[in-house]
Amino acid sequence: MSLIVQKFGGTSVGSVERIREVSRRIARTRAAGHEVIAVVSAMSGETDRLLGLVRELAATPKRSEADVVVASGEQVTAALLALTLENGGVPARSFLGHQVRIVTDSDHTRARIRAIDGQRLLDTTRRGQVAVVAGFQGVDENGSITTLGRGGSDTTAVALAAATHADACEIYTDVAGVYTSDPRICPAARKLDRISYDEMLELASLGAKVLQIRSVEFAKRYGVRVHVRTSFGDELGTWVVPEEASMEEVTVSGITLDRDQAKITLPQVPDRPGVAAGLFRPIAGAGIIVDMIIQNVGTDGNTELTFTVPRSELGAALEIARSHCREIGAPEPLADGEIVKVSIVGLGMRSHAGVAARVFETLAHEAINIQMISTSESKISVAIDARYAELAVRALHHELVEKGATAA
Ligand code: ADP
Ligand code: ASP
Ligand code: MG
Repeated sequence: MSLIVQKFGGTSVGSVERIREVSRRIARTRAAGHEVIAVVSAMSGETDRLLGLVRELAATPKRSEADVVVASGEQVTAALLALTLENGGVPARSFLGHQVRIVTDSDHTRARIRAIDGQRLLDTTRRGQVAVVAGFQGVDENGSITTLGRGGSDTTAVALAAATHADACEIYTDVAGVYTSDPRICPAARKLDRISYDEMLELASLGAKVLQIRSVEFAKRYGVRVHVRTSFGDELGTWVVPEEASMEEVTVSGITLDRDQAKITLPQVPDRPGVAAGLFRPIAGAGIIVDMIIQNVGTDGNTELTFTVPRSELGAALEIARSHCREIGAPEPLADGEIVKVSIVGLGMRSHAGVAARVFETLAHEAINIQMISTSESKISVAIDARYAELAVRALHHELVEKGATAA
C-alpha cells in the first residue's frame, strides 16, 4: 500500500461543491488502494479577507496576532473536509499545525519549519482514517501559532510527505501543471511534463507562484516526488524531478513575472567605501530582503544607487534610506512602487550566448524601457514599468520559448 499526500489549494476548496469534489477524489484514491494525508489551504480569497481585517484595525499589526487571525482560514477548511469525508463514509480527522506538531521558528508571518513529527499522521492513516491537515500553519517552541508565508500550504504538504516518507506529493491547483509562463497572462504558455528541482526553484523564486519556493527546497533536499496537477480533472500534470541531462537541450524553460517589487533610488551619494554598507546594514537589520542593486559611478565623486525591495516593505525601506541620506548629507531618495520584474529562466542558458541580446532587442521592439538588469548563469531579470508587465511576458515568451531560444 502506498501513501500519498494530496494538497488542495484555495480554488480547489473554494466552495461547498469544491470541497465535496475533493472528498470524492480522496475516496477514489483510497479505493485505488492508497493511504491519504490531505493538506488544505483556506478557501480562495479567505486569507486576503482576513489580512484585510487585520490591516483595517492595525496599520502595523503585531505579527504574532496577525498569524492567529490568518491561520484560522485553514482551520475551517480542514474540519469541513474531514466532516465531508466522514459524511461520505470515509473515516477522517482534522489536524491543526500544533496537533501534528509542525514546529517552526518564531519568525511570524514567514516562519520556517524546524521539525515535523509524522508519527501521529501515520498512526491515523494506519487506522484507516484520512488525516486532513490545515496547511500554512505551525507552532513555535513557545506554543504560539505561526504561518509559513503566502502560498505556505505547498510547503506544509511537501514537508509532511518528507516526514512520512510518502510515495508522492500531489499538489492540486487551478491550472493543469507548471507552464512555460503563467497561463493566465500568456495564453501560448505550454504545460511541462517534467521540470527539474533546480529549474522549479528558479521559477518559484522569480515569481511563478504555482509552488512556494520553500516547498521546492524541501522536495529537492528530501527527494520528494511532487506532481502539480489540476483539481478540475484527471489529466496528468507536471512532475518535479531531479535534473536529467536532456533538460539542458531547452535553453529557456520559462518566463516569470514578479509584481511584488518596488524601487528606491539614491540619486547622489558620495562614492567612497562604507556608504553602501551604511545603508544595507540597517535594511537587513529590519528583515527587508533587497533584490536587485545597481550603482553607477559618477565623475564628480558621487554615485547613483538604486535597489529593489518587496512592495510591502517600500515604506520601511524608504524610511531607512531617508535617514541614511540625511546622515551623509545626500539628497532625498526617490521611491517607485510601480515596477515589476520579468525573468527569463533556463538552466540551459549557461551554455548559450546571445540570449541577453535577444531579450533586450525584444523589449526594445515593444518600446519597453529597461530600468534594471540582473543576470546569473540560469536567469536574466529586468525591472520594467508595471504597465508593460503582460506585454513584456508575452513578447519574451513568443521570442524565446515559442520560437526556441537557440534559434538565432
Ligand atoms: P493554489 O491556491 O492552488 O495554491 P496559486 O494561486 O497559489 O494556487 O498558484 C496557482 C497559480 O499560479 C495559477 O493560477 C497561475 O496563475 C499561477 N502561475 C504563475 N506562474 C505559473 C506557471 N509557470 N505555471 C503555472 N501556473 C503559474
Ligand atoms: N492560504 C494561504 C495563502 O493564501 C496559504 C496557501 O494558500 O498556500 O497564502
Ligand atoms: Mg498556492
